[in-house]
Amino acid sequence: MAGPVPFKVRRIIQAAPGIKTLQLVPVVPGSFSFDFKPGQFVNLMIQGPGEPLMARPYSISSSPTNKEYLELTIKILEGGRFTSKVDQLKEGDEVKVGGPFGRFFFLDEAKMKSLVLIGGGCGTTPFISMVRYINDRKLPIKTTYVYSCRTPAHILFREELVQIANRNKDIRLVFTTTREWPSDWKFETGRISPEMLRKHIDIGAPGQYYMICGPTEMAKGMAQMLKGMGIADEFIISESWGGGA
Ligand SMILES: Cc1cc2nc3c(=O)[nH]c(=O)nc-3n(C[C@H](O)[C@H](O)[C@H](O)COP(=O)(O)OP(=O)(O)OC[C@H]3O[C@@H](n4cnc5c(N)ncnc54)[C@H](O)[C@@H]3O)c2cc1C
Repeated sequence: MAGPVPFKVRRIIQAAPGIKTLQLVPVVPGSFSFDFKPGQFVNLMIQGPGEPLMARPYSISSSPTNKEYLELTIKILEGGRFTSKVDQLKEGDEVKVGGPFGRFFFLDEAKMKSLVLIGGGCGTTPFISMVRYINDRKLPIKTTYVYSCRTPAHILFREELVQIANRNKDIRLVFTTTREWPSDWKFETGRISPEMLRKHIDIGAPGQYYMICGPTEMAKGMAQMLKGMGIADEFIISESWGGGA
């Protein structure tokens, strides 16, 4: 993809406490191909009046099957130099988008018969794109999305994911909340553990790959845990974003 493309903010959605979803459309129709792979990221660029251009990478949370808009889901950090600018964006504002970039996507749809997607907090945006894509394309990939959040309110795209899983038998959800949950909570509680994974997943099934995304410590910890469960390195694909997400 050539240089940065001007986009307009079409819609801003409060996705969860402190997390905003931006729907972006190219200013010039056709100037962005939407030909990315689910899991890739773009560089979002914002320039305030009289200010230098700033950029940060964000995973695309929409699916490449959605040609209407590009969706990014961003945690607004207190004191964040870039996310404070994201927080000030209004619908109709102009930004620039460079990319797509990155190799965090399923590399071989034919070889990967089963995917275990493990994410925490806001570190799940590439997985939303993947789940949407697998569902839209009706790919025969057994997908288990293991997603840990502080509270149910922090689970991004919860209703949409539940609807997808209700309709698509190849897609299963394992939500777990670590700080609070209602008395009628039907999912897991506490941190992701080997026992929790074994309960829901046929660990080590042929063609099974594990993808991890989240803050660095979480990603490292999950990879260690999987290795401790006997999963070979070649089946673990990980991306981390630094400490804050
Ligand atoms: C491939 C990739 C994909 C990503 N995808 C996403 C995504 O989908 N969603 C998402 O939300 N993020 C994502 N990120 C992270 C994102 O790129 C930014 O790093 C994040 O939004 C923080 O940007 P910021 O400039 O606001 O924070 P920064 O200003 O860089 O600050 C980060 C943290 O450090 C603290 N801090 C800043 N300056 C100081 C200082 N001088 N002393 C002490 N503390 C300080 C801030 O308070 C904040 O908590 C992704 C990163 C990568 C690499």
